[in-house]
Amino acid sequence: MPSSKMRAASAVGRLSVLVMFAASVAAAQAVAPKPQDTEFYTPVPPKVTPPPLAPAPPPAGAIALFDGTNLDEWINVKDGAPAGWTLADGVLTVKKSAGDIRTRRSFKNYQLHLEWRIPADITGKGQLRGNSGVHLAAPGKADSGYELQVLDSWDNPTYTNGQAGSIYKQYPPLVNVSRPPGEWQAYDVLWTAPTFDSDGKVKTPARATVRQNGVLIQDNVTLRGETRYIGPPVYIAYDTAPMKLQAHADPSEPVSFRNIWIKPLP
Ligand code: MG
Repeated sequence: MPSSKMRAASAVGRLSVLVMFAASVAAAQAVAPKPQDTEFYTPVPPKVTPPPLAPAPPPAGAIALFDGTNLDEWINVKDGAPAGWTLADGVLTVKKSAGDIRTRRSFKNYQLHLEWRIPADITGKGQLRGNSGVHLAAPGKADSGYELQVLDSWDNPTYTNGQAGSIYKQYPPLVNVSRPPGEWQAYDVLWTAPTFDSDGKVKTPARATVRQNGVLIQDNVTLRGETRYIGPPVYIAYDTAPMKLQAHADPSEPVSFRNIWIKPLP
C-alpha cells in the first residue's frame, strides 16, 4: 500500500477507536448514578413562623444523652475514642476534624428530643451552610444510617429533600419552620425501627414522625432504607443501633447541640 494510503487508513483506525471510546464513556455516564438523580427542588415547603421554643425537660424513663455537663454518652464513630467535640457553657459544638460521634448505647424504637443551633455568623450556601444531621439509627460505619437533616434553611435554598427537617433524600419537611441562624431550634422525633426476617429481608420498614420547633414536619413517613448521598436508599438488617451526630466536611462554621434526651419505647 502506498504510504499516503497507509496514513489515511491508520487515521481512520484511530478515529474509530476514538469514537468507540467516546461512546463507551457516554454509556458509562448514562448508567452511573449521580447525586443529582435524587435531589428535588419543587414543590418548595411553605415557610411558617414557629411558636416560641418551649422548655423540654426529659420525661420519666428518658436517658439524658447530653445535659450540658459531659459527653459520657458519646464516642467517636471512627475509633470508639472519646467524642472529641467541643463542650463549653453547657453547649456541644461539632468539631469537624474529629468526625461523627455516636451514642455508646444502642436503641430500637424511641422518642427523641434534641436542640440545635446554626451559628449566627454562618457562611456558605446550600448544603455547605450549617450542615449536620441526626442519624436516627446508625448501624454501620462511615455515613451509614437514617439521617434527619440539620442545615440552615432560614434563607438558604437547596434541594427540598435535603433541607432542614428532611429525611435526607427521601422526604422534604411538610413546612419550613426554621428559625434564623443564632437561634435554638428543636427536633422531637418518634422513631419506629425497621424489623427484618432472619434472612435479612425487611419485615416492617422504619417510620418517623418529626416536629421541628413544635410543628409537625414529618407525618409518620415510611422510610425506603438508609439515606444515601448517591443512589437509592437501601435496607441493611440490624437489630439495635446507636444514634449518630454528623460532622459534615464543609468549611462553614460548626453547628451546636443541647438538651438531648431519648426515651426508649416498646
Ligand atoms: Mg447532613
